[in-house]
This record gives sequence, structure tokens and C-alpha cells, in this order.
Amino acid sequence: MTLDESARIALAAAILLGLVFAVTLFGPAASALAVLVAGALIWSLLVARVAGDSRVSPVGNDTDDRYRAVLDGVADPLMLLAEARIVYANSAALTLFGSHIDGQDVRLAIRHPAIAAVLGDPEGVGSAEIGGLAGDPRIWEVRIAPNEGNRRLIHMVDRSARHSAERARVDFVANASHELRTPLANIGGYAETLADDAAGGDPATRARFVSIIASETKRLSALVEDLMALSRIEADKHAAPQTVVDLRPLAARVIAERRDAITLDAGDAAFMIRGDAVQLSQLLHNLNDNAAKYGTAGGGIINRLVHDDAGRICLSVIDQGAGIPAAHIPRLTERFYRVDAARSQSAGGTGLGLSIVKHIAERHRATLDIRSDIGKGTTVCVTFEAAVILLSSN
Ligand code: ADP
Repeated sequence: MTLDESARIALAAAILLGLVFAVTLFGPAASALAVLVAGALIWSLLVARVAGDSRVSPVGNDTDDRYRAVLDGVADPLMLLAEARIVYANSAALTLFGSHIDGQDVRLAIRHPAIAAVLGDPEGVGSAEIGGLAGDPRIWEVRIAPNEGNRRLIHMVDRSARHSAERARVDFVANASHELRTPLANIGGYAETLADDAAGGDPATRARFVSIIASETKRLSALVEDLMALSRIEADKHAAPQTVVDLRPLAARVIAERRDAITLDAGDAAFMIRGDAVQLSQLLHNLNDNAAKYGTAGGGIINRLVHDDAGRICLSVIDQGAGIPAAHIPRLTERFYRVDAARSQSAGGTGLGLSIVKHIAERHRATLDIRSDIGKGTTVCVTFEAAVILLSSN
């Protein structure tokens, strides 16, 4: 039986009171035995109190169940080891390795040379990143830390997202370097030929070389501009724009800046969103660039603004070009992804236009939808939440 703190204090007080009565009624000699008994009782109660305070937690089935429920709610696999034996595995660990691991040697569950030695040493601690566990495609950081009573806790953290982000970054640097090197090599080559006068002094050939150098320089600077835009937008991506912008005059301004024949279909309503006017203009320019580059000659481009039934605003850029085969659509917003590289390059494309559009849409918490019919054309729709504007009553 265990006593709680207030019961123990009450009992100690009662013993002391009894002692005072014993001394008063029977005199000091008769009370000597009572003093000894009371002292022993008070001592044992105080010891019980200190022991009770130092307990980490009462061990009972109810508490065990509560701890298990908490640990089962953790998404990361957790395993408690006594030497190398698994004495507890949470649900995530059981799902990853199978329910048979309970009670097993951990080296049968985590068969990996990178941490086999640490797991085999009963006091071994440390961490390692490993992949290919139990046929699972994820990359795990396995942390082995000391735990109470000479036990060890294995905590596994899924690092796959960090690895794929790192891979994407490495791929991007490689692709960007390749894209930059091509025009640079052309500029260098033609400039050297001109300097060596290998063009033979023929004015027509020299003019052609100079024009190639000029167009490659333009391509290079378009690429650098797009790379810089992309990094600027990515740097701001967590800061949602706060300024209220009406998309209708903004679209009208973008159309006026362009040489293409574009129709604005927006009626007279206002289309208010919270946005960054510079980035929204860039989004519209990029979509109209594509509509002009890949649409049929002669235009037929429409920029449409619509309020939908759910209170959102849909901005569409519609062309009547050749369309895009369905298999390519999910990949169009990847950096440097092109359906037809030769066509994109001859039209001055950098391969970054739709990637920039996607990032601007994401920063505006907008969704991007690309629909295309082969032979009929393409519609790119960006859907924004309409801004809620609070009007003051006076
Ligand atoms: P690019 O600079 O090559 O145009 P984008 O990222 O803007 O790069 O577009 C990626 C690819 O998507 C283009 O190379 C093109 O193949 C295809 N594409 C984009 N918009 C259209 C469109 N309106 N019609 C047909 N194809 C398109």
C-alpha cells in the first residue's frame, strides 16, 4: 500500500501528539519505549517521502499504456533496447520493420554495416544516415542514444525530403551551368573567328557572325535575368504579399506593353487580390510569351478574368496553338523542362518561364492549372483567393 504525501504528514503529526500525551500521562521512564517506536515510524515515513519524490514516474499499467499511446502517436520509428534486444517498438517502428521485431535482436531489423558495430556494442551510441532498409526506399537518420537503466533508445528520422532537395539543387546547378555554357561557347567561338579574320573579310559573313554573337548575348542575358528572378521569388516565398491589387488594370497594362494581339476579357468588375504587382506582371508576361511563342501565328490570345462560385478569382491565358501532349503537362513547371528544346531555343525560351510562374503562384497561395487540347490550344489558369476588404463605417 502506498501513502500519499498529505496522509504521511497527518500520520507523523498524530504520532508526535501521541508522544506528548505519553510523556504527560506515564512520565519520562515509561515513555522511553514510545519515543523509540515513534522515532522509527517518523524515520520510515520520511524515507518513504524522499523515495517517493525521487521516482521518475509511478510504474503501473495505466501509466505504461499512457506512455505507449504517446510514443505510438510519434510518426518517427522509436525502439528501446536492452543490450541489443528490442524491448519496446512504437507503431511507426512496427510498421516499418514488421510486428515480429518485438523482442528480437535489433541487428536483425536494422541490417546495415554503417551501424552494425554500434548496435553490437551494448553501450554503443552514435548516429548514421542509411538507406535501403527492409526494402523501404527512404533515407533514415538512425540515432542511438543512452536511456535510463543501461538501455538505449533508437530514434529514426526520415531524411528523404532533405536528400531529394539536395539532389534537385545539384541537378539545377549542373543544368544551369550547361545552359550558360552553350551561348558562352558560341559567343567566344564567333568572336575569336572574327578576331582572327578567318571570316575572310567578307562583310556578309562578318555581319552574320556579329548577329549570332548579338543573339547569343541576348539569350545569355535572358537566362541570367530568369535565374535572378527565380532566386528573388524563392527568397520571398514564405512572405505572402499584403498589398491589395486589382488584376484587371494590371492585365490591361501588361497587354499594352506587348506587341502581340491579345484580347482582355474581364468585363467591368474589379478583381482584387493580395499580391505583388511586379511579380504578377512577370507572371502575365511569361504566360503571354508562351502563348505567343507556341500559339498559332496571328494571335488569338485571350487573357480572361473570372470570379468563380467559391469566391476565388481565375486568371487565364488562352491560346489557339498546337497544344501540349498530356504526358508532358505534369513536368512543364520543372526548371529547364521543354517539350521541344529546338523550338524553345529558336523562340528565345530559357526553359524557366513556367517554373517562375509556379513560384509566383505559390507565393500568392494561388493554384496553377494547365489544360491543353492537341491541335486546339492551351489554357493556363491561375486561381487566387479574392482579397477581403474591410470598409470602415464612417
Ligand atoms: P520556355 O522558355 O522553353 O518557353 P517554359 O518554362 O515557359 O520554358 O515552358 C516550358 C515548355 O512548355 C516550353 O518549352 C514548351 O515546350 C511548353 N509550353 C509552354 N507553354 C506552352 C503553350 N502555351 N503551348 C504549347 N507549349 C507550351
